[in-house]
Amino acid sequence: TRTSRPQRLLQAVCINAVRGNPDSVIAAIDHFCQNQEWAMNVGDEKGAILDSVVMETSPSTVLELGTYCGYSAVRIMRLLPPATRFITLEMNPDYAAVARQVIQHAGLQDKVCLVEGKSADLIPKMADMFGIRTFDFVFFDHWKDCYLPDIRLLEDCGLLDQGSVVLADNVLCPGAPEYLDYVRSSLRFSSRFYRSHLEYTRVLDGLERSEYLGHRDAQRD
Ligand code: SAM
Ligand code: MG
Repeated sequence: TRTSRPQRLLQAVCINAVRGNPDSVIAAIDHFCQNQEWAMNVGDEKGAILDSVVMETSPSTVLELGTYCGYSAVRIMRLLPPATRFITLEMNPDYAAVARQVIQHAGLQDKVCLVEGKSADLIPKMADMFGIRTFDFVFFDHWKDCYLPDIRLLEDCGLLDQGSVVLADNVLCPGAPEYLDYVRSSLRFSSRFYRSHLEYTRVLDGLERSEYLGHRDAQRD
């Protein structure tokens, strides 16, 4: 029977990564994507930027939009203490099933809460489902046309606090121009760009880090 790319990626993890060792899981996935098949993980080059933004933010609550095979979930949670609340959303059940096994192989299953469903449906339920008031760090890496509606939804649901950091992947490739316009012109965000390359390629891409400055009633959008 034919296997899917995520299944082959999982196979590479099971064969090449040490159980309970997140760094070896990341290395096995990067090696597979550099040598066997490209896949849409944030990857090693942008992953190093992600690591540094996560560490400087040192969040206690984290939301990830777009789990895929769990690469970035492992990448983020290997850096944070067990008490960190980490929720990742994935709408594709086949990807979610692979991600659970990748996360398990890394030994991070007790630190990661993977929820299946669409961001637009789940974001408004975060408070009720998890008792979370605000997220200190949000990683945007789902479909690019969801970036703008979802950052507005996070704001409308009151899930961003002063100092919350939203980090968005692939803002140049495939690109999220309306999202970039929004965070760069909004007075509620302070935004900066980290230049890099599309995962496992030399194509120009980057991450946008947008810090929430708090609600500004008196100011225009
Ligand atoms: N963050 C992952 C990593 O770096 O390892 C890669 C995520 S991949 C680029 C995007 C994923 O987002 C896909 O698995 C897709 O099914 C999922 N997705 C897209 N739109 C979504 C949405 N609105 N809600 C939940 N998941 C979504
Ligand atoms: Mg990405």
